[in-house]
Amino acid sequence: MAYLDRAVRSIFLWEFVQAFWLSMKYFFAPKATVNYPYERNAQSPRFRGEHALRRYPSGEERCIACKLCEAICPAQAITIEAEPREDGSRRTTRYDIDMVKCIYCGFCQEACPVDAIVEGPNLEFATESREELYYDKARLLANGDRWERAIARNIELDAPYR
Ligand code: SF4
Ligand code: SF4
Repeated sequence: MAYLDRAVRSIFLWEFVQAFWLSMKYFFAPKATVNYPYERNAQSPRFRGEHALRRYPSGEERCIACKLCEAICPAQAITIEAEPREDGSRRTTRYDIDMVKCIYCGFCQEACPVDAIVEGPNLEFATESREELYYDKARLLANGDRWERAIARNIELDAPYR
């Protein structure tokens, strides 16, 4: 019986030493976490965040209302209405994305022939209500204006792989 008792104690001691060693190893190892939002991890140029509609440097909208993004969207989150302008060009009169439906697949971005609709780098767009996640054209264009530099840089970095 005393022999069994000693064997059990030495097993517990061995496990304690192993656990202690493991704790010390990770105590001194570099941290795997970051102190968000004060620290951030690097973000891939392919990150698919909040949507944005882009303009050309002249200020003209890129979107030509071809509706490819609307057609390809598997979540049917995009609603577009369009009509020709006086100069004959075709532009949207309505461009809505229901961000609640969106699954961030990136198909709209891939389908767009003029890089108008993109998923930008912004990941901080949580809201308090569903209504705030129904984006209209003005909101999407404002996102494009706000994030254009980062979006253009990401598209350029990813261009060799597209
Ligand atoms: S990312 Fe996918 S689900 Fe979201 S709007 Fe674009 S195509 Fe639709
Ligand atoms: S965002 Fe691009 S794919 Fe969608 S309607 Fe406009 S031009 Fe076509």
